[in-house]
Amino acid sequence: MKILVINAGSSSLKYQLIDMDGEVMLAKGNCERIGIDGKFTHKTSGGYSSTVDVEMRDHTAAFEQVKRALTEGEGRVVEDLSEVSAIGHRIVQGGSKYDHSVLVTEEVIQDIAGYASLAPLHNAAHVQGIRAAIAAFGEKVPQVVVFDTAFHQTMPPKAYMFGLPYAYYEKYKVRRYGFHGTSHRYVSARCFELLGRPGGVGTKIITCHLGNGSSLAAISDGKVIDTTMGLTPLDGFLMGTRSGAVDPSAVLFIMEKEGLTPAQMNEILNKKSGVLGISGVSSDDRDLDKARAEGNLRAHLAWELRTYQIIKYVGSYISALGGVDAIVFTAGIGENQSLLRSEVLKSLSYLGVRVNEEKNQIRGQEIEITTADSTVRAFVIPTNEELVIARDTRALVNQL
Ligand code: ADP
Repeated sequence: MKILVINAGSSSLKYQLIDMDGEVMLAKGNCERIGIDGKFTHKTSGGYSSTVDVEMRDHTAAFEQVKRALTEGEGRVVEDLSEVSAIGHRIVQGGSKYDHSVLVTEEVIQDIAGYASLAPLHNAAHVQGIRAAIAAFGEKVPQVVVFDTAFHQTMPPKAYMFGLPYAYYEKYKVRRYGFHGTSHRYVSARCFELLGRPGGVGTKIITCHLGNGSSLAAISDGKVIDTTMGLTPLDGFLMGTRSGAVDPSAVLFIMEKEGLTPAQMNEILNKKSGVLGISGVSSDDRDLDKARAEGNLRAHLAWELRTYQIIKYVGSYISALGGVDAIVFTAGIGENQSLLRSEVLKSLSYLGVRVNEEKNQIRGQEIEITTADSTVRAFVIPTNEELVIARDTRALVNQL
């Protein structure tokens, strides 16, 4: 069974075609700048790669491009489009209703559209992506949606409520939802396998997804009990361009002083803060590394601030869990920044955590980075959100 995994943004559409026999990626790519000037990238597992400038008027036009790339020319990976058995979509916000993946129906599409007020940048684009996929592949190809929020739905109210008047929860469903759930789910399941405890029964772990956007999850018995992102992906600790948690009155103070609208402040908190805002250099860790090596003090401050905030969250999650068996690092920064991993783990040396510095330097593979006598085990586990989406899609389609 071949499954097409889609991640639709407002002006982009990322795709991956996965052959579920062997779970191998056949091709992947990205339609960027949809509705603007258009750029299309297509890569295959066989080594083919192409990037072309091509106008795509909307998401339906982008799908036409994807269909052609999969079936025609040098980058072709299927004989015929009918080989694509199903489509799985990544959806950012699934509200409190969706604690698992579901087949797409008109009701599901309406629900996703309804949650757009909670995730304005994402959910509207996802609806466009689903509708365009139906238009491009026809009603007969089953479609599945996999929610970033679903895995976190096991959080108890004490973890997901904010200390605001209860009426706002009732009226607007203002609460912590958490994001990156698909990634936390994948790496936690993998961690349980590595620990020899499938399902994670009786196991306490902390998963650290550290990328452009970053979040931590505290997981007990395979269930999330707390996570750092909140109503939106802004909460938690310092990210590439997002502030993470700040005193809410600081936000109000700046808005008043600068005469900013909520939309302008939102842009500052999401796009101009974090590592970029503190360092003034870049949101990208590779640039941050370079600036630190050149002695840039603000780049150094950004590094220290983020590390300190992660250390504080890890400590608080160990308390919330009542102990910890393993810590997992994943995503661009989690998989590559050995120094950050080492600093976070060293903060737990009082618990008997011991880093294997040699193994901690190895990149690009799943590896245990603590020593045999470490009281808590730590792993680097490269994430694979697309595979989780494809697996859920296959499971639901097989029930049809
Ligand atoms: P997202 O999926 O959220 O866009 P990623 O998981 O790809 O983000 O992570 C992107 C981050 O990972 C960037 O800050 C990037 O600099 C960092 N990163 C990727 N590779 C490396 C590396 N080799 N060394 C240091 N940082 C890296």
